[in-house]
Amino acid sequence: MNDSDFSSLPLHKDLISNLASLGYREMTPIQSKSLPLLLEKKDVIAQAKTGSGKTAAFGLSVLHHLDLKKYRVQNLILCPTRELADQVAKEIRKLARGIHNIKVLTLCGGMPFGPQIGSLEHGAHIVVGTPGRIEEHLRKGNLSLDNLTGLVFDEADRMLDMGFKPAIDAILEYTPSKHQTLLFSATFPAEIHTIANRIMQSPVTVKVEATHDNSTIEQVIYQLDNSASRIEAVKNILLEQRPNSAVIFCNTKRETQEIATELANIGLSALALNGDLEQRQRDQILVQFANKSTSVLVATDVAARGLDIDALDIVINYQIARELDVHTHRIGRTGRAGSHGKAYTVIFEKENYKLRALEEYMDQTLTISPLPVSNKLDNTPYKPPMVTLQIDGGKKQKVRPGDILGALTGKGGIDGNNVGKIAIFDNCAYVAVSRKMATDALHKIEGGKLKGRSFRVRRIRG
Ligand code: ADP
Ligand code: MG
Repeated sequence: MNDSDFSSLPLHKDLISNLASLGYREMTPIQSKSLPLLLEKKDVIAQAKTGSGKTAAFGLSVLHHLDLKKYRVQNLILCPTRELADQVAKEIRKLARGIHNIKVLTLCGGMPFGPQIGSLEHGAHIVVGTPGRIEEHLRKGNLSLDNLTGLVFDEADRMLDMGFKPAIDAILEYTPSKHQTLLFSATFPAEIHTIANRIMQSPVTVKVEATHDNSTIEQVIYQLDNSASRIEAVKNILLEQRPNSAVIFCNTKRETQEIATELANIGLSALALNGDLEQRQRDQILVQFANKSTSVLVATDVAARGLDIDALDIVINYQIARELDVHTHRIGRTGRAGSHGKAYTVIFEKENYKLRALEEYMDQTLTISPLPVSNKLDNTPYKPPMVTLQIDGGKKQKVRPGDILGALTGKGGIDGNNVGKIAIFDNCAYVAVSRKMATDALHKIEGGKLKGRSFRVRRIRG
């Protein structure tokens, strides 16, 4: 038995035996670092990149501490979006398979209110939800947190990004003074530490550095004749792979723009991200990429710093980065726990020495693959699955994510499944909707009201 065996933990044996049936053979690094503390009921701040198994870390601890006989809400898990709340609830139900009759309830905005009241009347052990809707149920007296022993903030950074701070503050007013508070996030902007200091009791911080794992990232190297064109190679890769989220890294600002323009010219959805952009433009580009209404981001390393995008399908290196550690950092942005990431690198024959240096640095053999042949490709460009609507109202106008969800999915509106990420800024907000529902969604917001008034809305063309 070693430290990464689940059986080294003082976890209920029913939970442990079920893990084996889920194929969870050993703990991921963030799980082995955080679970012992979580089980001791410490307040914990845990940081690890997307896909590192954070849900099971807090999920197991939440399940372990439940008093099953008590049919009261004992744990509240806050997530930034309905999608994430659904994923968390699903994972917890999976982890709970070994235990009888655990009731996990999701309460999210954009879903009809009435049935949620009904479910709350039936009772639950664990509630997973988005802050706006939870706050509303608390305010209306549908949900009581009097028996709460644990509170989890999942993807805390994104909740703040989405303007949920006021809702979170309001929720905290309803929590009993003594409970375990857990904060999970992929990044930790300063604002989170301020919140943590206020609401947590001597929190312990655990952190797993975002190192890459060679085994889950497939590196594909394309070597070009010295006379060939890198941009043609990149087009071929995109048309062959057709990724919904790809980042192309290059070394200069000028290249970012040139490449994005070339790709747009053949009908692909690509935007340049570089240090010349104003903050507002940068926000808008990142929003469009993160919400899947732009497929390709062409970025310099500096501009991509702090970029936290989950589930990049592929990374393309327009060249090998000048610094080898930068190169490994680039490719580490693809590849999630349990799934395979792909990193493509385009080099010229004359750059072969750089490839050898990279092999040595990464202690890995890198073989050269034949480039996809362009006349064998489906050359029709592809469109991103979502489009972005910009609403001319934001935090200053007190527009909240729940208001936008409500306006879109209310009576005669579109199905909530067609609503993607919502981002609220000071004076504007962005919401992603499925491409096929774009016009309906636009009309729904145009014709409806947010916070009792109409706002201008338009579709952003990537
Ligand atoms: P995060 O919240 O850190 O982004 P998730 O909790 O969504 O990551 O986990 C990513 C994937 O890894 C999920 O599919 C999950 O089922 C799987 N997973 C989690 N823990 C383990 C483990 N110990 N062994 C194998 N797979 C795991
Ligand atoms: Mg997560």
